[in-house]
Amino acid sequence: MADDTGTVDAVVIGAGFSGLYMLHKLRNQMGLTVRVFEAGGGVGGTWYWNRYPGARSDSDSYVYGFTFDEELWREWEWSERYPEQHEIRAYLEHVADRFDLTRSITFDTRVTGATFDEAANTWTVTTDTGETVVTRYVITAVGALSSSNTPPFPGIDSFAGETFHTGLWPHEGVDFTGKRVGIIGTGASAVQAIPLIAKEASDLTVFQRTANYIIPANNGPVPDEVKKARLDDYEGIRERIQNSYFGFELNLLESNAADATDEEIYETLKPRWDEGGFGIWLGSYVDIFFDDDANAKVRNFLHDRIREKVQDPATAELLTPKGYPFGVKRNPLDSGYFETFNEPHVHLVDVKSDPIAEITPTGVRLESGAEFAFDAIVYATGFDAMTGPMNKIDIRGRGGELLRDKWVEGPRTYLGLTSAGFPNLFTITGPQSPSVLSNMPVSIEQHVDLVARIIGDLRERAAATIEPTREAEDAWVQHCQDVVAPTLFQQADTWYMGANIPGKPRVFMPNLDFVGPYRAKCDEVVANDYEGFTITREGASA
Ligand code: NAP
Repeated sequence: MADDTGTVDAVVIGAGFSGLYMLHKLRNQMGLTVRVFEAGGGVGGTWYWNRYPGARSDSDSYVYGFTFDEELWREWEWSERYPEQHEIRAYLEHVADRFDLTRSITFDTRVTGATFDEAANTWTVTTDTGETVVTRYVITAVGALSSSNTPPFPGIDSFAGETFHTGLWPHEGVDFTGKRVGIIGTGASAVQAIPLIAKEASDLTVFQRTANYIIPANNGPVPDEVKKARLDDYEGIRERIQNSYFGFELNLLESNAADATDEEIYETLKPRWDEGGFGIWLGSYVDIFFDDDANAKVRNFLHDRIREKVQDPATAELLTPKGYPFGVKRNPLDSGYFETFNEPHVHLVDVKSDPIAEITPTGVRLESGAEFAFDAIVYATGFDAMTGPMNKIDIRGRGGELLRDKWVEGPRTYLGLTSAGFPNLFTITGPQSPSVLSNMPVSIEQHVDLVARIIGDLRERAAATIEPTREAEDAWVQHCQDVVAPTLFQQADTWYMGANIPGKPRVFMPNLDFVGPYRAKCDEVVANDYEGFTITREGASA
């Protein structure tokens, strides 16, 4: 199919990590015609939109990039332990240039719908700029955290000052100097933004609903000898992260916190705390994910650290997480978050006990009647995660079924990559894949490689469509529930559970098989001649 006729082999939705690599794979390596549609004005996805102060990845930079091309991996040098937003965007622009990707991307264009034509075995994709493209394959590369959530507070439009959402930050930046600022939310975005906004604002009020377990990032330059050792170990690093639990060079301990004395717990956790990063979470005792008593031992250690950092005991108490286990909510990494609350112009307000009643023309009013006046309000209120970006698009499969209707009780997929009744539709790092429970570039590469493999096989067989059977899908949905059931993950109100969006079904959305075993499972499906899938030939129906 030619790409100047409104007909292409593949449409990719999104030009972040996933979309860029998918385009490279399908167009440059396999010779397909591809159109990529991107809502933003440039490449980057998450890193195009999330430009709030302090935005950076919580993954170590040496594993936060593509590994599919050794030269690319070697030639890009990150300046610090964790890559900062500008740098990640520059990296993705570099990737786009290096592989000549931009000419196939249509920017400032949002895909509004995709409808499967059962007679032609094609998808018709429509955009908000009025384009219609017919294609054989649709790949959603929309990201798991791209649909921003602003809670529908009464009076939200009445505020006379400036408002910002961390996930839709102005490109020119925001100067808070001398301003009275209110920030709602204390998730990973807020934890990064608060220390920097506090440096500028004359007065900063943080509205906290749930205190988070927050771990030091310990950011800084990476020593030259460490950089060199990593450069010498490209194959090893790639192999280890691909077969790891979470896409990092971190391994859960074989020993259990339940069996450890308080001293042993301290000796195990303190170096991980000092090292910074996810080691204390994803490279620690395995039983903290299953056993609340074991988990409590680690919680106690973390509570002590908060008391060490926060001078005012009442503020420290409020900043201490309660009522849910450690590690089942995404832990933010911080650079001076707790210490910021020692500043006299920074205030913490508990909106769990006294929720926000409304946004007023001058600021925020709580249910108790307490009022706060601001020049600017920052919504650090997160995203309609995982299913949100997909559900925004009218995706109609066989019989005109809408994907969002099918997913009304929660996502239904096979391998988190495909959904029955939606042939030739692939969801990169979709719900029910490891996705957000992993270092994203690792899972993205795995899914993109897998999709390319599937499409290559289909073309070799001159097949028209692939889609999972209802039985395979039902079994996968059940499997995802079975894996998480013995863990503590479902005890917390998290965006993993859809709990941050009123009315969203309470379902644990990621897959908890871990990166390595999940990859092996996908490879097994392919090796077993696409077990669980139906493949049709042209003219045949499923
Ligand atoms: P988030 O973790 O969902 O945090 C949203 C915050 O807003 C929470 O504190 C939430 O409270 C609060 N909130 C929501 N609705 C509220 C309401 N009606 N009233 C009061 N408070 C309300 O969102 P995020 O911080 O943007 O982070 C989302 C995810 O993006 C992260 O978990 C992470 O995976 C990713 N991220 C990564 C990085 C990184 O790698 N460095 C940085 C930023 C984000 P509750 O907790 O009570 O719901």
